[in-house]
Amino acid sequence: MSTATTRELYEQNVLPTYGRFDVVIDRGNGARVWDETGREFLDFGAGIAVCSLGHAHPAVTAAITHQAAKLVHTSNLYYTRPQGELAAKLNQLVGIPGKIFSCNSGAEANEGLYKLARKFGNPTGRFGIITFQGSFHGRTLGGISATAQEKVKIGFSPLVEGFKHVPFNDLAATEAAIDETTAAILVEPIQGEGGIHLATPEFLQGLRKLCDERGLLLFFDEIQCGLGRTGDWCGWKSLVGDTVVPDGISWAKGIANGFPLGAFWVRDRELPEGRNLSALLGPGTHGTTYGGNPVACAAALAVIQTIESENLLAHTLEQGAFLREELRALEHPAIAQVRAIGLMIGIELAAENPFAGPMPALSWVKKLIELGFLAIPAGERVIRLLPPLNVTRAEVMEAVAKIRESLAF
Ligand code: PLP
Repeated sequence: MSTATTRELYEQNVLPTYGRFDVVIDRGNGARVWDETGREFLDFGAGIAVCSLGHAHPAVTAAITHQAAKLVHTSNLYYTRPQGELAAKLNQLVGIPGKIFSCNSGAEANEGLYKLARKFGNPTGRFGIITFQGSFHGRTLGGISATAQEKVKIGFSPLVEGFKHVPFNDLAATEAAIDETTAAILVEPIQGEGGIHLATPEFLQGLRKLCDERGLLLFFDEIQCGLGRTGDWCGWKSLVGDTVVPDGISWAKGIANGFPLGAFWVRDRELPEGRNLSALLGPGTHGTTYGGNPVACAAALAVIQTIESENLLAHTLEQGAFLREELRALEHPAIAQVRAIGLMIGIELAAENPFAGPMPALSWVKKLIELGFLAIPAGERVIRLLPPLNVTRAEVMEAVAKIRESLAF
């Protein structure tokens, strides 16, 4: 066995694509993780909105081990029960007739939507997709082309053709950006990586109207905000209820509590000339070896069943509102704003804040790590709190105390 430290193993062998915090996570339980030395941290990042039931949840562990002992993989040349059951369950949660494709990550789920937009638009020469400033859609070539943040694109040109970026929540700018090549609009109902920014109800409703008037598809990237994080199975429903019906939805992150899985949903919708939207990606048009893996699907089914049986959507709303109000009640001059929906919370630092350097959010997260607390930076001045949906009141109060302590200088 190697005697190198974990950090040395990375330095010598792992591509340096990430700037990592100096913590080696060894194990987890609920909302807590421990490093290799046994030091405990309260984890309000949950793997960036992934471990919705916390670490090592027994229902997920049991589902994974049970399925792994039975069948880890076959191929999409055959049927497996967990993939079919998960698709039925996701369709039920959306509540609008549609079909599911299962894949492996968020970026890959969005890739499926880009391909759907092209299949939809190609007969009339349309292929373009409008996305919004501050968005994040993944790190594949399509993903960085869709993402409206310059920093992810640098050095990777030429990008995939057809993506246009317009200001978030700006309906007039969106309308002005539509031309004869536009096929679809892709929006995060709540921007996550961009710093927890909520779409306004009028914006989402206006996008649907624009899409109907101009014959475009409306896609929701629910990879970070979907499947319970906002206190609803569908993030957009937390903003507009049933008043907006999308044509496509992408998911990943919280879907299987950390077992790699992504998925996208396509609405059953009749199109001109006898076409149906959910039949456009027909046999041979799209695929992936691992997609719909039975172990991943079994894990996802366990996640959904546990959220249902433990009433965690209501719990998310309750704990989220409590956390938001406690943070606002700090009335700390270094906090400019607390933006929140369910357990998706962004704390924006004021321009005047105690953290030095060009990335104060990063310095703040490092300070919190010193105090035994994990949070996630988003851009220069925002940190995100994305705890498990079953976080307890005591853990929320502990988190608020850590944040107060981190600003006490
Ligand atoms: N879309 C959104 C909204 C995300 O937050 C992310 C990841 O942060 C992605 C897409 C990409 O997902 P993945 O990292 O699983 O490819």
